[in-house]
Amino acid sequence: MKKLILKTLQSAIEGEVWYQKEFREFYSVDASSYQIIPKVIVVAKNEKDVINTIKIAKKFKTSVTVRGAGTSLVGSALNSGIILEMKNFDSIRLAKGHVTIGPGTIKGKLDKKLEENEKFFPPNPSIGSFCSIGGMLGNNSSGSRSLKYGSVIDNVIEITFIDGNGNKITLPKNKKISKKILEFAKKIDGVNFPNVTKNSSGYRIDKVKLITDSHKVLIGSEGTLGIILSAKLMIKDNPKKRILFVIEYKSIKDTIKNCIKINKTKPSAIEFVDKTTLNQIKFKFNKKTKCLLFVEYDEMISLNEKKIKSIITGKIIKKLNRNSDIVKWWKYRDSSLHYSLKSIKKGKKIPHVIEDAAVPLKNLQKLFSTLNKINKKYKTNSIVYGHLGNGNIHVHLIVDRKKIAVIKNIATEYFEEVIKLEGTITAEHGDGLARSEFVKRQYGTKNYRIFKEIKKFFDPKNILNPGKIITKKSTIIENLENF
Ligand SMILES: Cc1cc2nc3c(=O)[nH]c(=O)nc-3n(C[C@H](O)[C@H](O)[C@H](O)COP(=O)(O)OP(=O)(O)OC[C@H]3O[C@@H](n4cnc5c(N)ncnc54)[C@H](O)[C@@H]3O)c2cc1C
Repeated sequence: MKKLILKTLQSAIEGEVWYQKEFREFYSVDASSYQIIPKVIVVAKNEKDVINTIKIAKKFKTSVTVRGAGTSLVGSALNSGIILEMKNFDSIRLAKGHVTIGPGTIKGKLDKKLEENEKFFPPNPSIGSFCSIGGMLGNNSSGSRSLKYGSVIDNVIEITFIDGNGNKITLPKNKKISKKILEFAKKIDGVNFPNVTKNSSGYRIDKVKLITDSHKVLIGSEGTLGIILSAKLMIKDNPKKRILFVIEYKSIKDTIKNCIKINKTKPSAIEFVDKTTLNQIKFKFNKKTKCLLFVEYDEMISLNEKKIKSIITGKIIKKLNRNSDIVKWWKYRDSSLHYSLKSIKKGKKIPHVIEDAAVPLKNLQKLFSTLNKINKKYKTNSIVYGHLGNGNIHVHLIVDRKKIAVIKNIATEYFEEVIKLEGTITAEHGDGLARSEFVKRQYGTKNYRIFKEIKKFFDPKNILNPGKIITKKSTIIENLENF
């Protein structure tokens, strides 16, 4: 059977078909803690290859999982069937106010092109230039600037994709399908959607308010509804001036209180790092400093400087106006994951599981208390940093390699609390293998049923990245690699 799929793919695909062990091993991992060996990798050369791959997968009852740069932290692009590599879809067409782009384009290439034209695409994941546009669309990525400019879902005008039937669809242009999506959207129970400014869990049907929003259902869908062929993204003019304040605090409680006040002045970013990151920064902090806030404004600089100075309770240790200094200090924040991994001892591991929940700012203090209780109960430690202005914290739980069973208990307890606090179990990295089993709990039975109808509408045979977002299986500790 395996040989037959291979032969069929080889004769139909104009791009490449890789089945060798080394390639299958390469595509079996990403930046997460998981591993799944796929059957075969198709490197699509064109649209026809994408359609043929889906049709062949359907015929042979196997899956198609589209992959970008493989930087997902939760195994979103790992699966056992066919992996669809989209690196050849890397065109960039710049126009006034938007860019039309292929999903295989690496973000760094887009950034460079936009920089030459003094423009930028707002969502800026800390992975920087390495992720692909397809992956950012698939995860509904965001970053420090999302506080002001929103996540990917808030910055897309149009999406063209191939669904699970092999049909090419452009949304919101396609009126018939747009109407159908709006019908789904009207049925949702909004109360069970998280009350947050960023969310990458489930299908973001809550963002579909008008027929012209229908494309948003694809964003954050992790390749489970369609393979994106191209996207029209909104772009902005580079800000004329920026100012970055780095502020030290002696208590996390005060930092959170102060973050809520600072947020009211509408900065473009409020980011948080704990001791693990600040210990890596070459600067003489006060011995009692527990954490830092990075606060940036990209407009009304002098007015905002006055405002922030009148409300901060910490101490400003850096006030930066020069672009090179701003870039240097943001690098420290963007390296937090690297510093976290570097800091753990032999025999310990950081599974990326409870790592990017968000809650409304009013409940942030309670989220930190929940984390402290969990750490006490399970004798674990955690490193925390993240997008505090969005109530979105990255938690790196340090666990004993030999005690992986606790991960599921910890995740269940943490996510239960996050949901009670009106939050989302994932604000930016997606459900993947680590969170899909909690999506039903996150949204409730009624909304989950609507999610299943949406999945069926676009992918009736469940061949697109099965097991992600909609699943009956628990995959949280299955497939953990090298634990
Ligand atoms: C060090 C580090 C820091 C990070 N910091 C941030 C951060 O600050 N903010 C943030 O939001 N994220 C962050 N991430 C996660 C990051 O957003 C995602 O890893 C990234 O956007 C995924 O891009 P990728 O190209 O690697 O996608 P992949 O990992 O390859 O895929 C991600 C998902 O997108 C789907 N997908 C890929 N291409 C397509 C397509 N053409 N059509 C449909 N679906 C598609 C895949 O099936 C998969 O479900 C970080 C990750 C790392 C490793």
